[in-house]
Amino acid sequence: MNNVYNNIQRVKNSIQETAEKYNRDSKAIELIAVSKTKPVSQIAEAIEAGQLAFGENYVQEGIEKVHYFQQTNPNNKLIWHFIGPLQSNKCKQVAENFDWMHTVDRLKIAQRLNDNRPAHKGKLNILIQINISQEESKAGIKPEQLPELAAQIMQLPNLTLRGLMAIPEIENDFEKQLATFRKMDQLLQDLKQYYPELDTLSMGMSNDMSAAIAAGSTMVRIGSAIFGARNYL
Ligand SMILES: *Cc1c(COP(=O)(O)O)cnc(C)c1O
Repeated sequence: MNNVYNNIQRVKNSIQETAEKYNRDSKAIELIAVSKTKPVSQIAEAIEAGQLAFGENYVQEGIEKVHYFQQTNPNNKLIWHFIGPLQSNKCKQVAENFDWMHTVDRLKIAQRLNDNRPAHKGKLNILIQINISQEESKAGIKPEQLPELAAQIMQLPNLTLRGLMAIPEIENDFEKQLATFRKMDQLLQDLKQYYPELDTLSMGMSNDMSAAIAAGSTMVRIGSAIFGARNYL
């Protein structure tokens, strides 16, 4: 039996059930299959299950996969999300190969993505990463820095700011997960007063997907529940 195929169905069912439970429209919750460290053969299995959106964390690995599927199926409808930390010297590769960038946390990165976005690719979709658990070691901006960075990104013509993203600290208690994700939802609602077109809240992983959906996530990033455990992060 095809494992990845079944896992995709299971995760989709779970998204649907959770959405119903919390009075959300499941069509407003997109599944991003996080394929980092996993081979193209497993991505191909996910595609067979109807999955089109994939998340990658490492620039080199990600673009190898993008190119592989471009070569094997030039008309593919795959959507590639960059969800890892990004150094400014690799912005060009992300701008040239990805459709979404989830982890913008400073103007310099946004500017380089903007300057290197090829015209034929259309605008790059941007999410600002928030360090919502206020962890010292974590990437992302502080909530108070959000209005300024959002205003700056809005000025960049080759980017479309779509919303916010977070990776909260690992927490197994549902109520605590929910409280953190609600802060993210509130930040997006506040920002939407200025930019009503914002429509994306990227939050929820294999371990906290239900709480993220309950709090308003529109994009869940699921890796291990689809592709199995990873040997490294
Ligand atoms: C690895 C990763 C995921 C997926 O994590 P799982 O726990 O395997 O679902 C989601 N988002 C980001 C940013 C990641 O790095």
